[in-house]
Amino acid sequence: MLEVADALAEVLEHARPLETETCTLTPAVLGRVLASDIAADMDSPPFPKSLRDGYAVRSADCAVPGAELTVVAVIPAGVVPTRSVGAGEACRIFTGAPLPAGADAVVMQEDAQAIGDRVRITDAAVKPRQYVYAQGTEMKVGAVVLRAGTPINPAAFGVLASVGRTDAPVYPFPRVGVIATGDELVEANTSPAPGKIRNTNGPMLAALTARGGGLPRYLGIARDDRVSARALIRTGIDASDVLLIAGGVSVGDFDLVPEVLKELGVTFHVRQVRMKPGKPLLFGTAPEGQLVFGLPGNPVSTFVCFELFVRPALRILGGHAEAGPRTIRLPVAQGLAESNDRPTYRPAKLEYDSDGWSVRPLAWSGAPDLVGLQPADALIVLPAGDTRCDRGANMEVVLL
Ligand code: AMP
Ligand code: MG
Repeated sequence: MLEVADALAEVLEHARPLETETCTLTPAVLGRVLASDIAADMDSPPFPKSLRDGYAVRSADCAVPGAELTVVAVIPAGVVPTRSVGAGEACRIFTGAPLPAGADAVVMQEDAQAIGDRVRITDAAVKPRQYVYAQGTEMKVGAVVLRAGTPINPAAFGVLASVGRTDAPVYPFPRVGVIATGDELVEANTSPAPGKIRNTNGPMLAALTARGGGLPRYLGIARDDRVSARALIRTGIDASDVLLIAGGVSVGDFDLVPEVLKELGVTFHVRQVRMKPGKPLLFGTAPEGQLVFGLPGNPVSTFVCFELFVRPALRILGGHAEAGPRTIRLPVAQGLAESNDRPTYRPAKLEYDSDGWSVRPLAWSGAPDLVGLQPADALIVLPAGDTRCDRGANMEVVLL
């Protein structure tokens, strides 16, 4: 049985970034990772531009309070000034318009008084360069504006547009097959007969995958029967970069997944992890390198194993530099007193009040309790052994 950190190291050792592709920059690319540096094709701004509606002036002309200047031109945004500003002159100018030659500052219109074709400057201290965004301040032609490895967030779309890009090389989202297992399972659209329950792991894993940066493909329920399970699992391996199989990985007579995976040539790297919930986790690689996870069937165990092991793997396949999971230390919102034989991951909720952030363990009734888990946005990590701490004690927390 491996420790959590060693099991994660095994997973990451077998996770490799997928081959990159060039994609049109539609919102579907949001969250994917850039595969090459992006350089500016021009300065930005491409000309010195006004940051205010007002008057382009020579700051030296405004040294005397109440100076009056002759307005010689109007420059709206998008228009190239045709006249320069000479001594005693100003141009009416609007936000985003190019500063005319001769001017070195902008006085905002709130600090000026129009008097016919003249303007009185009431700004008492006009400084050179005020309200002027100098050419190339944001980026200079040829400069790298986005580094390979950058996750494409909404602002990155804007930066890419500003350098004229409509496509970019990116890492794909990994394709993730999802299989539930168990003769007791029926799908959500069916009323369970006696002895049956509804399949919750299938929809939950598809959603965890989407949130974790993968493209989920739900493949259905494998029955606790070797032949049919093998057929579905083989299809899943062939069609996926990562295959998730929920249930059937423990030591019961009907836990067929390990045997079936062995028959399909999967090499195991992790079998059981010293953690709670989630001990029966299975991780291996298929002959063509696909990652295969056997997740414990209890929904909370599946959830915790996904966050601790699958999500980091998806990040590496998708080109992220950091695998995660992200952990921080936070004060607990209520005292804890419990004993655990293994390191325990307790579903919890982040809270914010006048004392700042804290984390509150959720009331839940154990590994099958999805309703108790549902509000969780964090997991509190309790070490093996006795945990006794008061409200306000700092604990390690995994952010979801
Ligand atoms: P197993 O790992 O197959 O032994 O399953 C452990 C427990 O989780 C059993 O109570 C199963 O009925 C339950 N379980 C397994 N798969 C699912 C699923 N997809 N949805 C809901 N419960 C499940
Ligand atoms: Mg089962």
